[in-house]
Amino acid sequence: MAIISSNIGDDDFSLRRKELRIVDSKIIQEEKRNDNLNLARPVTLQEFIGQEQLKSSLRIAIDASIYRKEPLEHILLYGQPGLGKTTLAFLIANEMNTKCKIATAPSIERPRDIVGLLLGLKEGEVLFIDEIHRLNRLTEELLYSAMEDFRLDLTMGANRGARCRTINLPRFTLIGATTKLASISAPLRDRFGISEKIEFYKCDELKQIIINFSRLINLNFDDEASYNLAKISRGTPRIALRLLKRVRDYAQVVKKTNFVSFDLIKKALNSYQIDDKGLDSLDRKYLSFLNQNNNIPIGLDSIAAGLGDNSSMLEFVVEPYLIQIGFLMRTPRGRLLTGLGKKYINSKNDNF
Ligand code: ADP
Repeated sequence: MAIISSNIGDDDFSLRRKELRIVDSKIIQEEKRNDNLNLARPVTLQEFIGQEQLKSSLRIAIDASIYRKEPLEHILLYGQPGLGKTTLAFLIANEMNTKCKIATAPSIERPRDIVGLLLGLKEGEVLFIDEIHRLNRLTEELLYSAMEDFRLDLTMGANRGARCRTINLPRFTLIGATTKLASISAPLRDRFGISEKIEFYKCDELKQIIINFSRLINLNFDDEASYNLAKISRGTPRIALRLLKRVRDYAQVVKKTNFVSFDLIKKALNSYQIDDKGLDSLDRKYLSFLNQNNNIPIGLDSIAAGLGDNSSMLEFVVEPYLIQIGFLMRTPRGRLLTGLGKKYINSKNDNF
């Protein structure tokens, strides 16, 4: 039996409430009725647009576990921010007709936090841990037996007064989400029965997401407009929805209309300095910075210092799309602009 000396008191196993959300399907349906763009998430696999391969594996796993009356296997979802990992965790719980409890790894600081979370679960419930690569070692080790045998092995107290205690847990499903698969230790990774990558979305899929959400907020898009908004959404639903909100503000406040044409989109995005490739002023600043360095690779930290920005933000928000559209390369010696990226930034006059 693996015993982890974690100096946990008997008393307080509760994670601070503000860092934990408990969601069940009823709450999500209620959120949907509220017509709020931030909260309106798809609640069934069928409503979830795109990711066909992933959806079909999840469908089989969910149906099999319902058929066997067993909890779903633990699931690891990895991919860039905004692609739908949290949404999927909600809807998996919904499809399993159970609740989903949500925490982010950095909020699980002490062993008692994860113990509190696990003890608060009921049979079959889903625990979603976002940014799971940021769990500390003790927490991660406590999870091993919890995931594998639904059991917690604890050492209470210290030195001579220390005593071991095993607590049985209800059978639950852990869904972990990460943007950094490589930072997850092999023992933790191996305990997930299902491990799935979420890919960037195709333009047609984003267009469908835009149309669905625009209906919720009484906005009418013409076909060309929705397609062009999708085209500049960086393959990412969260960005599509963010742009949709900007377009809505411009349409309703400046143009006093609920009808969105391609022309209106151009004007709206131009007013927010977003160009026809979907790049904003930070992207252009990033590309200009590299362009000044004449084909010499630059390290991420130097770029962040030069731009006065946060390196993780550049790494996870700015760079993936610039790489995807062929403007940027990550080399062992640093970041390098491609010929295409150079051509683009040299031609730029900051207009849409
Ligand atoms: P992540 O957890 O990967 O950062 P989220 O699940 O928070 O991403 O998704 C960001 C936003 O995009 C949410 O508002 C969600 O409703 C929406 N979204 C993500 N994927 C889809 C999808 N496939 N279909 C419809 N909306 C989606």
